[in-house]
Amino acid sequence: MSFEDLSIADRIAKIRPTVPDSVRLIAVSKLKPASAIRQAYEAGIRDFGESRIQEAIAKQEELQDLEDITWHFIGHLQTNKTKLALERMQWIHSLDRLKLAREIQRLVAKGSPCPNLCLQVKFRPDANKSGWDWSGLQQDLPELDDLGGLKVRGLMTILPFGLPSQESQAIFQEARQSCDRLQQQSWRHLQFSELSMGMSEDYPLAVDAGSTMVRLGRILFGDRPK
Ligand SMILES: *Cc1c(COP(=O)(O)O)cnc(C)c1O
Repeated sequence: MSFEDLSIADRIAKIRPTVPDSVRLIAVSKLKPASAIRQAYEAGIRDFGESRIQEAIAKQEELQDLEDITWHFIGHLQTNKTKLALERMQWIHSLDRLKLAREIQRLVAKGSPCPNLCLQVKFRPDANKSGWDWSGLQQDLPELDDLGGLKVRGLMTILPFGLPSQESQAIFQEARQSCDRLQQQSWRHLQFSELSMGMSEDYPLAVDAGSTMVRLGRILFGDRPK
């Protein structure tokens, strides 16, 4: 029997021991039905990642009886969906632009809850992904720190597609060092205790480099519909 034929529960049983307890395992359930989330929940998973707000809400409605799920938003967030994201998600990993940070601040000031946030950073140029490059982030950090209502907890990064593993390892280490450097600076509000990195293809390297949250989709749920 090949890995592809295993049930979600069997996959989780195999993969979970490969992620240290100190690292939060987020099961990325985007494009998978609520029934798949329920199976993963029954196998012990409590953190789920979604990349579209409407899709996440539909699944939350179906899974209302599972009260202790922590929902993570990992996709590009359109500004007009911000309020829903604040109300529905406990984490947003993909805070990727100053404009979105300002909108979150505005809504939180008006009473919306503020999820935990990660700043999405690109450590290599990647036209297909949003996020700050390192120098752009340096420019925006002072204003982000001044937006007092935000619960920035750390950084998130996604590697460019198809890198050789040595290069992946180098970028993960660079991300860890960059996060450490930010943590050593004295910010009024920003915190950098979290580093969200590692997906199905590369998470062992990310964990070795010091990831605190891995986001695993296909390795737990199987291939997604295109
Ligand atoms: C889809 C997605 C994942 C999961 O990717 P897999 O390769 O299926 O593990 C992780 N992070 C983000 C931001 C994603 O969009």
